[in-house]
Amino acid sequence: MINLTRLNKLVRAARDAVEARGETFYPGPSRIHLAAFPPKERWNDWVELDSKAWPARVEKRYMLVPTTCFNCESACGLLAYVDRDTMQVRKFEGNPEHPGSRGRNCAKGPATLNQITDPDRILYPLKRAGRRGEGKWVRVSWDEVLNDLGDRIRRAITEGRPNEVMYHVGRPGEDGYTERVLAAWGVDGHNTHTNVCSSGGRAGYHYWMGLDRPSPDHANARVILLVSSHLEAGHYFNPHAQRVIEAKQNGAKLIVFDTRLSNTATHADHWVAPYPGSEAAILLAIANDVIQRGLYHREFVRRWWNWQEYLAHEHPGLAPSFETFEQILKTLYAGYTFEYAAAESGVDAGVLRELAGVVASAGTRLSTHTWRSAAAGNLGGWQVPRTLFFLNALLGAVATEGGTYPNAWNKFVPRPIYVPPHPPIWNELTWPREYPLAINELSFLLPHLLKDGRGRLDVYFTRVYNPVWTNPDGFSWIEALTDERLVGLHAALTPVWSETAFFADYVLPMGLGSERHDLHSYEQYDGQWIAFRQPVLRAARERLGDRATDTRQINPGEVWEENEFWIELSWRIDPDGRLGIRRWFESKRTPGQKLTVDEYYAHIFDHSVPGLPERAAGEDLTPLEFMRRYGAFEIAAQIGPLHERRIPPEELADVRVDPLGRVYTRAPAPATSNIVPTGSPEPDAEGRRPVGVQVDGETLRGFPTPSGRLEFYSRTLAEWGWRESALPTYIKSHIHRERLAPDQMVLISTFRLPVQIHTRSANAKWLNEIAHTNPLWIHPGDARGLGLRTGDLVRVETETGYFVVKAWVTEGIRPGVVACSHHMGRWKVREAGERQMMATVSLDRSGGRWSMRQIQGAQPFASEDPDTLKIWWTDVGVHQNLTFAVHPDPVSGQHCWHQAVRVRKAGPDDRYGDIAVDTARSMEIFRQWLALVRQADRYSPNGTRRPYWLMRPLRPSRDAYRLPDRGQPAAVSGE
Ligand code: SF4
Repeated sequence: MINLTRLNKLVRAARDAVEARGETFYPGPSRIHLAAFPPKERWNDWVELDSKAWPARVEKRYMLVPTTCFNCESACGLLAYVDRDTMQVRKFEGNPEHPGSRGRNCAKGPATLNQITDPDRILYPLKRAGRRGEGKWVRVSWDEVLNDLGDRIRRAITEGRPNEVMYHVGRPGEDGYTERVLAAWGVDGHNTHTNVCSSGGRAGYHYWMGLDRPSPDHANARVILLVSSHLEAGHYFNPHAQRVIEAKQNGAKLIVFDTRLSNTATHADHWVAPYPGSEAAILLAIANDVIQRGLYHREFVRRWWNWQEYLAHEHPGLAPSFETFEQILKTLYAGYTFEYAAAESGVDAGVLRELAGVVASAGTRLSTHTWRSAAAGNLGGWQVPRTLFFLNALLGAVATEGGTYPNAWNKFVPRPIYVPPHPPIWNELTWPREYPLAINELSFLLPHLLKDGRGRLDVYFTRVYNPVWTNPDGFSWIEALTDERLVGLHAALTPVWSETAFFADYVLPMGLGSERHDLHSYEQYDGQWIAFRQPVLRAARERLGDRATDTRQINPGEVWEENEFWIELSWRIDPDGRLGIRRWFESKRTPGQKLTVDEYYAHIFDHSVPGLPERAAGEDLTPLEFMRRYGAFEIAAQIGPLHERRIPPEELADVRVDPLGRVYTRAPAPATSNIVPTGSPEPDAEGRRPVGVQVDGETLRGFPTPSGRLEFYSRTLAEWGWRESALPTYIKSHIHRERLAPDQMVLISTFRLPVQIHTRSANAKWLNEIAHTNPLWIHPGDARGLGLRTGDLVRVETETGYFVVKAWVTEGIRPGVVACSHHMGRWKVREAGERQMMATVSLDRSGGRWSMRQIQGAQPFASEDPDTLKIWWTDVGVHQNLTFAVHPDPVSGQHCWHQAVRVRKAGPDDRYGDIAVDTARSMEIFRQWLALVRQADRYSPNGTRRPYWLMRPLRPSRDAYRLPDRGQPAAVSGE
């Protein structure tokens, strides 16, 4: 314990002594005034006292090198403290020059140090020696790997099997680099994890504003409404959390919807714990109150909603006036009374009425956010963001100070050195025609579609992705990955061992956040910034005059980075350039030579980031040197309402205006995209691009929707078979009370632990010591009924099997609902793996019947890190996701995570961590959910597989959108 009085006395004495000598007193270790962060002018030679040498005053000299954290999607700035004597990283702290995170990090940022020094990390490329999954590995050279992969991919392309090449990413953490690699190869092989994560969240926003994410200006809000545990685990949570707290300090009210008493809920002024899946009903009751009391922002609604389109299509016989629309609006939501919402949610009607008053009091300063949470838990969960943003749209709290922005207003996408053309094919393994409106690839159905005979893969990359553990129905993944008829070759690109890597042919070690290059820009406040992840030791050596030509020269072992890996692999696929692939990976400076990462990023920083060259020149640096020195650059602040900006005359050429005011032009789009909303609305029939929308006689930028306005009414949804969901509405979840048997409860399985990273922190000892298990939250009333006390074993039975876990009896969960974090339950069958956080298990299989039993939990072990002998925990949790069947939402494609379960006291044969699953039953449930779809073959209004304007991470050519045998597609929405 520090005795502050004594410390103050010591500081005063030191000051008096220094000042008595006539010198200035600097109390900080670097002999300057104490500051929150090291001033950037001194990053090259920063001095600190060595805390481990205390009480001796031993000075350590550091070079501070910026990078960005790779431990979640926020990309916060980190500063690596590189010891100038050893040239090793000694710690990571926050980068104060990063505009999003402003020098602050969560626990996972500094824990990057654990990851780079993890004794179990993979240091060399490995090839399997036995059967897949047998656990036998031999070290191979990168050359052997690259030649094998290059040959196979070349054959797949030249033999007309491009759809047999697939790249499947978990945490991308980059700017679209790999999408462009795949486009250069001409394959439609991009697959993401997004449909087990945020597709539900994205869909709700996308149908409103043509962009799939919100950017709430929390810091300036009067009221903040979160449908999630956003302060601890939401999207961009550290950058957002610090701004939410600032707003609270300035008097903002915080409303949190969360069925659990999360850390976020504990900070709320108003916490509501609704029955899971009822969130949209509450939000609509609030919206109805705003409408009935006439509290909405009438002018904003009149100018920016697509009410004319709604009237034209749904009420063509009525006068197309705003007053007509207002009358209809009052009737549309009249049924969503507080009493109705109370019956659905279990939250008292009086509480909901009070909430509505608080929300309405925000005016245009209402910041709202939801992401995974309810949107990812429920059938129809995508209506949660749609109904949440409805409140912003009603109050005019869109792109206002303290309101919620479309993400592209607060994000910057630079133009890269090359933009290869769209691949000319469509891959139905990722975009099956049953899901024309899915916001992302139907990634979690891959094993089911493969087993269904819809195709095979010859080369399958997983990259920072662990579907066996992360996705529902992991045993079906193992079945597919171990069947060489379905997956010819599986290469796992990963910085850390994973349950999926165990079933690979190659395990290829990739760098951590301080060992690789990436670019990012994310919407975290009303501004636009760009940040640079870099191999910090490479940057440090370069400051001292060394030059590295390959990141492997600096990284430990033969750990590489994807940028250089993809360039090299692309050259092996097309060594002489005849396939037209190699040219996208050649230098522009020295034609015929390989593109380097320095040239790749220098080109972007020199040509595509407004203001950066001038700022760098001011410090006598090149733009690349500036980014290597400071790690981030703010391009603009206080962006404001981009949709209100007038279109400049140079963007208006051969213009056509449709009857609802959408403006199309033949003028090309500007080269930089910082003022252009992303997204790709449909061109008109003559190929003009949509450029804006006419509002009160002016041509304004508008939103990248088909109408150019905010789409209260989605003509796309109506035309593609979902007319009943075209307006913000409430869809009863698959776990709605009406659908549950009397002895069933709802299991919430989606919540994160704030100090863990899904599947990538088993290598972080500090984090593991803090959190390493996942008991089942159960209310005391329910526990009493089952005769349970905290620590007792319970068996949780799902549709396909069961898992055995410990109970944690708590009033922090709604009665009738149980919850278990998905962040725990890592396992390994054999020696390889992360010993500090993976249980060793036995796996047994009889046909589709699988069982898992834990043999041993974590144990202390000897390694070069003495701390591994101090591991005191054995319990590393239970892998519940294995027991979940797939639940694809028929609109968004999101896996609907919530489970209807039976919770029982464990029997005498049950052991902690036991899991049993029947994958034949999983396939049956897959087919049941498949029956809910409205597939493109039947519902497409124009012969295409998917509306062209909807986002796709890797967009094929226009021709590839055509359904086979349906002729040339005609434009529909947006004409
Ligand atoms: S929030 Fe934490 S884990 Fe995420 S990027 Fe920031 S420091 Fe890293």
